[in-house]
Amino acid sequence: MSTSTSGNPNGAPVKVTVVGAGIVGSAIAYTLAKRGAAVTVVDRGTPGSGATSHSFAWINATAKQPVSYHNFNRRSLGMWDRFARGLDADVGLRWGGQLEWAATNEGAAELRSRAQQLQAWGYPCQVIDGPQLARLEPGLSPKQVIAAIYCELDGMVEPTLAAQACIRAAAKLGAAVKLETEVTGLSMAAGTVAGVIAGGEEIPADVVVLAGGVDNTQLAAMADVNVPQQDSPGVVIRTGPIAQPLFANVSVVYAPPLEPGRPEIHLRQCLDGTAMIGEGSQESLARDDTQGHAGELLARAAEYVPALRGASAVPVPVGYRPMPLDGFPVVGYSPKAPNVYLALTHSGVTLAPLMAQLATMEIVDGARVDLLADYRPNRFD
Ligand SMILES: Cc1cc2nc3c(=O)[nH]c(=O)nc-3n(C[C@H](O)[C@H](O)[C@H](O)COP(=O)(O)OP(=O)(O)OC[C@H]3O[C@@H](n4cnc5c(N)ncnc54)[C@H](O)[C@@H]3O)c2cc1C
Repeated sequence: MSTSTSGNPNGAPVKVTVVGAGIVGSAIAYTLAKRGAAVTVVDRGTPGSGATSHSFAWINATAKQPVSYHNFNRRSLGMWDRFARGLDADVGLRWGGQLEWAATNEGAAELRSRAQQLQAWGYPCQVIDGPQLARLEPGLSPKQVIAAIYCELDGMVEPTLAAQACIRAAAKLGAAVKLETEVTGLSMAAGTVAGVIAGGEEIPADVVVLAGGVDNTQLAAMADVNVPQQDSPGVVIRTGPIAQPLFANVSVVYAPPLEPGRPEIHLRQCLDGTAMIGEGSQESLARDDTQGHAGELLARAAEYVPALRGASAVPVPVGYRPMPLDGFPVVGYSPKAPNVYLALTHSGVTLAPLMAQLATMEIVDGARVDLLADYRPNRFD
């Protein structure tokens, strides 16, 4: 249900322009529109076509440190079901958990210690052995299993479908959507930001949300706000569609290197039957987007997942993760530009529902959410 907003002294709905229709900006636009804000969303491309389209899209709190950031991710993970239910499409949200195993004593020790840490934080993560792994995923051919872990809460989603569905839902609630329209500047009045300049026109706003992903550094600079980022290229390849389900229960699989010194691989099957395969961790830097590398990744994955044999390898160009300099989210108003709201994060697929909810509370209700204290933009001033 929409609620009228009190962001303006005259009681009119607060006028918000959201720059960026990736998973983060789309989720914010949708959540703001549900609360009755007068939303305009602007993207120079189409919804979910930026980093969101490159994402492995593992919804998790598993690979997140320290405990405060783990809990932040966990809270968002717990919101995804309800969030997706409000959308008009199957956005590929599936649970089932993450399975990972080690083929060396060193790798097994690392998995056991990770499981212990997650258990201490109250996150279900079991250490299992080879026969238990085989019962969980009978179609896998794991070769050697010294130890495995199973984190049952993790899931996956199709983030471009989710961004598209958010934008459709926002539009149905009255949001204006301007696609293939680039924001080239901010308009100023009396020393504050009065709106954005997009496609040659001025769009007036009470609040401007910057959710431009890797471009947020440049967008924030237009308001004199410093939001430094790391360069974080990543490669996740695709396969052609595979008719049968690759996994019986789990959504995301991490498999050990086939040879010492090589990175581990991770894979999942998407809603359309294709598989996604990456290597290393969610933060690993990778730039090889050639057909040869895609073929090699698929060949490695097929050693463990025989159902992949015969699939075609589809290379995907390098994707650039929005990655704040210290790796943590940047969320909230900047004291330097008090009506410019920043929304920049890695793990944005996991975090979109929570970021959208908290941003909406801060923009529409005027709340100041303590949970965001560690993630404020002014830490870079
Ligand atoms: C290889 C890879 C693997 C990943 N794996 C995971 C994972 O497993 N789990 C997870 O949770 N996260 C993962 N991530 C991270 C996650 O995908 C991102 O955090 C998330 O997609 C960021 O969404 P966003 O909306 O902030 O950015 P984007 O999707 O990049 O959206 C930003 C939008 O802003 C628009 N824009 C920029 N500048 C302008 C302008 N001047 N005018 C108009 N529009 C503009 C762009 O066109 C774009 O559509 C991964 C990312 C990558 C690249």
